[in-house]
Amino acid sequence: MTAQIIDGKAYAEGLRGRVAGHVAHLKAAHGVTPGLAVVIVGHDPASQVYVTNKARQTVEVGMYSEKYELAETTPEAEVLALIGKLNADPKVHGILVQLPVPRHIDPNRIIATISPEKDVDCFTPASVGKLQIGLPGPVSCTPLGCLMLLRDFVGDMAGKHAVIVGRSNLVGKPMAQLLLRENCTVTIAHSRTADLAGIVRQADIVVAAVGRPLMIKGEWIKPGAAVIDVGINRIAAPEKGEGKTRLVGDVDYEAALPVAGWITPVPGGVGPMTIACLLANTVTTASLINGLEPPRDLTP
Ligand code: NAP
Repeated sequence: MTAQIIDGKAYAEGLRGRVAGHVAHLKAAHGVTPGLAVVIVGHDPASQVYVTNKARQTVEVGMYSEKYELAETTPEAEVLALIGKLNADPKVHGILVQLPVPRHIDPNRIIATISPEKDVDCFTPASVGKLQIGLPGPVSCTPLGCLMLLRDFVGDMAGKHAVIVGRSNLVGKPMAQLLLRENCTVTIAHSRTADLAGIVRQADIVVAAVGRPLMIKGEWIKPGAAVIDVGINRIAAPEKGEGKTRLVGDVDYEAALPVAGWITPVPGGVGPMTIACLLANTVTTASLINGLEPPRDLTP
């Protein structure tokens, strides 16, 4: 048996197409153009690439886009003042501050200042609470992307045992909430979990969000399980030449491929879903801010 490969790149392209359709409808039927503002402080090259991609894709789906690139030394008060301005701006329905921020800025103060109505990353306590009790609102982008892939490829997940490896606020915890809503039995594993291999072996669905290259071995995977690899790790690739690197996930993909039922590759699996889900969240917040029901195919 060889696992079915979950093509996140193709799914994300389709999702962006659906988002563009909803944007066109919001404009034509309600005079609302969803708007996303992205803020970056400092010059981390990886963050710069993310922010540029986010701004480009926002425009491609027909949304209004604002991008603020602030100097590394920008005082915290200035960043908070900008967020306050964006909170009050009716053209902006989503605010994203690219993390990490420079050390002199407290990320928790940044998050606390973003209006929960415009919190497209689902970082504020209000958004996290809504997700937990199942109220409408934005959903953490990467877990939402994983959920969409699982629904599309695996289908009904009721009664399945989902093991999530990693308990971050960004991925592991919101993923657990979403899979509980799907009526999975959810186990969250982390760095202090005893017998991780034995626990992963019980999983019908494995979500790996650890940040350790190839940590989850092929022999840990239950035959036929769905494997969603969130990890993005850069490792040395001497086979490609001296000093070359390549991206790998948290799962030993080659070893898991003959055992799993479904598997996401890295790159090309979960990664492309995250920005597409950010755009989906902006349609959701733009709808809610204007008293409209968010499109059902963009929410959990
Ligand atoms: P994180 O905040 O560093 O959390 C990592 C989690 O893994 C923690 O809960 C940690 O446990 C757990 N862990 C660490 N070592 C472990 C071990 N040996 N055994 C079991 N659990 C272990 O990371 P994150 O932000 O969730 O990101 C995880 C990975 O996903 C990273 O590779 C990141 O680059 C990637 N990522 C990808 C996307 C995307 O768009 N595809 C988005 C976000 C993140 P403790 O809590 O006990 O420390």
